[in-house]
Amino acid sequence: MSTTQAAAAEGFRAVYGAAPEGLWAAPGRVNLIGEHTDYNDGFVLPLALPHTTVAAASARPDGVLRLHSGGADGGIVELRTDDLRPAPGSGWAAYPAGIVWALREAGLPVGGADVHYESTVPTGAGLSSSAALEVVTALALNDLYGLGLDRPRLARLAQRAENAFVGVPCGIMDQTAAACCTEGHALFLNTRDLTRRQVPFDLAAEGLQLLVVDTCVQHELGDGAYAQRRAGCEGGARALGVRALRDVPYAHLSEALARLDGEPGAEPASGTGPAVRDLVRHIVTENHRVEEVIARLDAGEIRAIGPLLTAGHASLRDDFAISCAELDLAVDSALAAGALGARMTGGGFGGSALVLAERSAAEHIGTAVTKAFAAAGHIAPRIFPAVPSAGARRLA
Ligand code: ADP
Ligand code: MG
Repeated sequence: MSTTQAAAAEGFRAVYGAAPEGLWAAPGRVNLIGEHTDYNDGFVLPLALPHTTVAAASARPDGVLRLHSGGADGGIVELRTDDLRPAPGSGWAAYPAGIVWALREAGLPVGGADVHYESTVPTGAGLSSSAALEVVTALALNDLYGLGLDRPRLARLAQRAENAFVGVPCGIMDQTAAACCTEGHALFLNTRDLTRRQVPFDLAAEGLQLLVVDTCVQHELGDGAYAQRRAGCEGGARALGVRALRDVPYAHLSEALARLDGEPGAEPASGTGPAVRDLVRHIVTENHRVEEVIARLDAGEIRAIGPLLTAGHASLRDDFAISCAELDLAVDSALAAGALGARMTGGGFGGSALVLAERSAAEHIGTAVTKAFAAAGHIAPRIFPAVPSAGARRLA
């Protein structure tokens, strides 16, 4: 039994005075490539981390929902399942409460529950602790109430909870990764039709390591910038007469950009930030990079994805303009120390970077990045290997 699992079972007993009916886990994730493509009907390639959020839970017949987390301040949050209403900005319990709400909205027979959480997924680091919390809750309720929902459906309900109940306009990638990833693979997801494929990504067998560099910073810009990029992408699609930017073929990129130059109306009204043409270039080249990475992985050439990761970083930094000093330094210092490739991952303006390295060089590269952060006066980053791990599962 993992220590998180044991802590969740013990925590449940301490909080609720009885043993839980069961224990479930869902992982955090990193996106190998395919950034900001998910709201453009595009391609993403996340993998699950060994870090998990574990839920210890029991059903309650009285319609009361009690939530407690070892990772959150404050005591038990107690709600009535009949009274749940979307409440943006109402704290951590909105994520699991939103799951109960979304299941009930879908007409599913979900009643109350006692739940206690323990987690090793860093929060707010771009590793999707929110989706881990949602998906583990959805899976626990699915089992406790015998709902029989499959993983993709649980992921869609979890996205609905985050969008409509918590009030965060996220795409479907994070919840799908938490629900559907498998060990030793990255998960290809086409966000238009939600088709998926497990792509072999056995780093250890190739003598490689993927490092996460959590910069431990999150700059304020984030929310407004996300809305601006999203609106800009939608404007670009409208100006180009396509349903979504995913429909602009890579081979027609220069044509599309030339067309946008003749259509200044494509710029969003309130737009600060990059021009629409730059946003379009990132999305179109990024979808292409996802396909290129998958082709390399299918051919068993993991090392060859390094330059594609690095090109993805340049595109996010220069075209999408969502990097920051810490992320650029993580990437540049890792490459200077011999990394095969590196890029920022997640929403931007902080959070984490990914570094692909020979296993034999990983420690040296990690030390070099840490030194570079110290020399620049940044707080020390947290660096750990991203081992492609399993998605959500029942533990006991
Ligand atoms: P990310 O998903 O990248 O980690 P978010 O801001 O989307 O960042 O989600 C982080 C929020 O999710 C936290 O502020 C907290 O409200 C909630 N959260 C995640 N994991 C837990 C947990 N184990 N216990 C309590 N709250 C959690
Ligand atoms: Mg999140």
